[in-house]
Amino acid sequence: MFGLLSNDIGIDLGTANTLVHVSGKGIVINEPSVVAADRRTGKIIAIGSEAKQMLGRTPDDIIAVRPMKDGVIADFKSVESLLTKMIKKVQKYPLFLLRPRIVVGVPSGITEVEKMAVIDASQRAGAREVHLVAEPMAAAIGMGIPVEDASGNMIIDIGGGTSEIAVIALYGIVCDANLRVGGDEMDVAIVDYLKKAHNMLIGESTAEQIKMTIGSAFPLKEELVMEVKGRDLIAGVPKTMTLTSEEIREALAETIGLIVDAVRKALENTPPELSSDIVDKGIVMTGGGSKVRGLDDRLREETNLPVNVIDDPMVCVCKGTARILEDIDKFRKVLMAATH
Ligand code: ADP
Ligand code: MG
Repeated sequence: MFGLLSNDIGIDLGTANTLVHVSGKGIVINEPSVVAADRRTGKIIAIGSEAKQMLGRTPDDIIAVRPMKDGVIADFKSVESLLTKMIKKVQKYPLFLLRPRIVVGVPSGITEVEKMAVIDASQRAGAREVHLVAEPMAAAIGMGIPVEDASGNMIIDIGGGTSEIAVIALYGIVCDANLRVGGDEMDVAIVDYLKKAHNMLIGESTAEQIKMTIGSAFPLKEELVMEVKGRDLIAGVPKTMTLTSEEIREALAETIGLIVDAVRKALENTPPELSSDIVDKGIVMTGGGSKVRGLDDRLREETNLPVNVIDDPMVCVCKGTARILEDIDKFRKVLMAATH
């Protein structure tokens, strides 16, 4: 009876996007991790997609923030609002009647204080049980990788604000590297490049569009072009220009280089037994940042290892949290913390 009523909830609390899975329903929320509040009173005005539209273009009295931007919780109150509002949104019945179990995927470098904030917020939203899981672990489970095996797997998760590289074996993260560089940094690099090379000012969301449309990490078979609108910094007027994928690759080179270096370092730090597993199985890339064209080719060239890209890299952390909830006894060993 309880099982029928109970809707377990799996959450990927990403730096860029938050996804919510409800058991029996699938992924019901997939929205930006953005919170908009009244600057004066602090009252939350909007979350998710609605709040993202306000980023960078809010009137003075509204402030829109990405509270997880750097992979750390910069703003506890906003994270709490984001979590509670999203949990409430997916519940048809008052939560206190159902008291779902909730698993939240969080960056593996999360501090104790941050863990408590996530747990408290979920409990206050009505959860019966809250568990945390490191995102690379959840991603691996979501991809169907047998994390219980003794044989190691390397996962690279490139998100908005962070990239995580983890070697997983026997339900644990054996070797782990976090860097505060991800897709956002690529956007900033494109903004800077256009300023320097073309005296042109664009916003970060235009930069993100450029990255997705013509961004790359390796020479393309057919190079691409894109028309971009911005402001001429000298004349102060709007201007339009055509950018090429070669140029944008140059703009992204430094950021991509940091990710490549981190992967190399992680490989060096991997215990030899597990390295030989990775030589056989290769590396799996996930997270929205892994969709940059040619990043797989680049990593293949740099590491001489097989690099696998998966079809839906932006949902596997959330799918993993859902999978854990289906078989929580099996996956208990992967959970970071639990309260009852
Ligand atoms: P997080 O887990 O940190 O919330 P996501 O896995 O949702 O991050 O990835 C978000 C990042 O992926 C953003 O920086 C976004 O610009 C980038 N991204 C999404 N799609 C693409 C794409 N097609 N090409 C390049 N980058 C992409
Ligand atoms: Mg993520």
